[in-house]
Amino acid sequence: METYMPISFLNDFIFCPYSLYLHQVFDDSNEEVFSAAPQQVGKRHHATIDNTPPKSRKLKLLKGIYVISHRLGIYGKIDTLHLDEGRLVESKYAITTLYQGYYYQLWAQYFALVEMGYVVKQLAFFSIRDRTTHPVALPGEVEFAELQQHIRLIAHYDFEQNFTPNPAKCAHCIYAALCDKTNTDHVYA
Ligand code: SF4
Repeated sequence: METYMPISFLNDFIFCPYSLYLHQVFDDSNEEVFSAAPQQVGKRHHATIDNTPPKSRKLKLLKGIYVISHRLGIYGKIDTLHLDEGRLVESKYAITTLYQGYYYQLWAQYFALVEMGYVVKQLAFFSIRDRTTHPVALPGEVEFAELQQHIRLIAHYDFEQNFTPNPAKCAHCIYAALCDKTNTDHVYA
């Protein structure tokens, strides 16, 4: 049976590979139990954006739909696709740095939408807290190959191998209190 990878793994793996393992373990738990306060604030703001109807009824938006790419073997949800302009926007609560994992997520959403037959001409990130838009160039074949490589790396990662945690990341990880690789608790505890 074919298995498909959640698009969120593309960024989480870069933050910390072991967090993917913990995500699987605690997948069925109530996330409120272990989420740090900033993550919960971010999710609430994100939900507000998701549930806000367009100001003009003429605006054609697709929000929070599931997308899938059989070529890449990934699936996940997009934030907003502005159908008239073909503009795909990924919102995050507060963007201070555009990490490579963010790009991988947006590229994956883009390739999935195109494979599903949608027209996407523009990409952007939106920082909810400071209401700033960050335009992103459309990915091509080079980026597709880079994304494929990253997905393969995750798929073949051995979670039992020796692993040295990064305390700076652990301090900002929602799984820190539950993680057997560190004694660091997250800074929000
Ligand atoms: S607590 Fe540290 S080692 Fe554990 S998953 Fe989070 S970042 Fe990785």
